Amino acid sequence: MNKNKVDIANYLKHYGFLLPNAAIYGGLAKSWDLGPYGTELKRNLKKLWWKYFITTSPYNVGCDSLLITHPRILEASGHQKNFHDWLVECNNCRKRQRLDHLLDTEGFYSFLSQENKNSFSVLKECPDCHQKNFSPPRQFNLLLSTNLEITAEKENFVYLRPETCQGIFVNFSAIQKSTHKKLPFGIGQIGKSFRNEITLHHGIFRTREFEQMELEFFSLPNERELCSNSQRGNYDLLQHSKYSQKDLSVGGIIPEVVEVSFGVERLMLAILEDSYSQEATREILKLHPLLAPYFVAIIPLSQQLEEFAYQLYCNLLNQVQFNLIYGQANNAVGTYYCVTVDFQSQPEQKITLRHRNSREQTRVSIASLAEYLNQEYLNY
Ligand SMILES: [Zn+2]
Repeated sequence: MNKNKVDIANYLKHYGFLLPNAAIYGGLAKSWDLGPYGTELKRNLKKLWWKYFITTSPYNVGCDSLLITHPRILEASGHQKNFHDWLVECNNCRKRQRLDHLLDTEGFYSFLSQENKNSFSVLKECPDCHQKNFSPPRQFNLLLSTNLEITAEKENFVYLRPETCQGIFVNFSAIQKSTHKKLPFGIGQIGKSFRNEITLHHGIFRTREFEQMELEFFSLPNERELCSNSQRGNYDLLQHSKYSQKDLSVGGIIPEVVEVSFGVERLMLAILEDSYSQEATREILKLHPLLAPYFVAIIPLSQQLEEFAYQLYCNLLNQVQFNLIYGQANNAVGTYYCVTVDFQSQPEQKITLRHRNSREQTRVSIASLAEYLNQEYLNY
């Protein structure tokens, strides 16, 4: 077993889960698009999150707010003022570096506690050119901004959201009124967020553009019993009440908020690392069947069987409730079942079904194949 991150990154590139972004133009550094396997895995993950937190919950509802964010929202939330990293610029290679990457933890905290932020203990060398010659530290805001250009005269400055939850907070009152939800209840959202990281040294899934799955659970101040990632109190709703001059209370009380927040890409990476295994000569992704990019693959054993196998694939496409792929029998991308079409398949009207993990084989009649596989899928 070999599971280090470098291997997983190469593995994901090799099999096309990850595609280097804008590769035909030389690419943006450390930016990735997802190929078909990565895309289906991500969709499955989000689907399961949504089902668990929203669809099957009697408490929670969903929302979908814009990525483009009114500057006042981030003024109220404190992001405009406080959402920053300290950076220094290398005087030799001009690259920007995060100050906390060039100091040990103690050194960084002692820097932060100083009144005058010009002095700091000895920095490590520049990771890009190995010199030690830096500009004085300064703050770098992590918000990404853009312009809407609605009018030529006025400045039309907006941000791209740094977290999905602010869209939930500013819509809280309207959602509560339109759904008549009583406390406690939650609002969930899945979507892209943006952070203008200075450096991207940390692997394949620390990127400026990323996706979040967030649930904000609102309750009366003494009702908190949910296990949580983050206790946000009523800070956000209070701030938005103050800045918008709108009453965001429910029955005169500003609810408290507990937040459950996931980064989709980071969770994907953790799952992929956990699922990867080597058995003798084969590499397998033992993904949960509901996460596997393709639940079933249809494979002809010989070129002569392609027409029959492809017809079977086309017939099945509209009958099954899962992702089906033709021609790619791949343990390496986590496909859960492989349907093999052999020379007996047409005369006998039967195929061989092979299970990814156990390699067990079952002969199944073509007439009952769709129903059989749907039932298997629904059992998970
Ligand atoms: Zn340098």
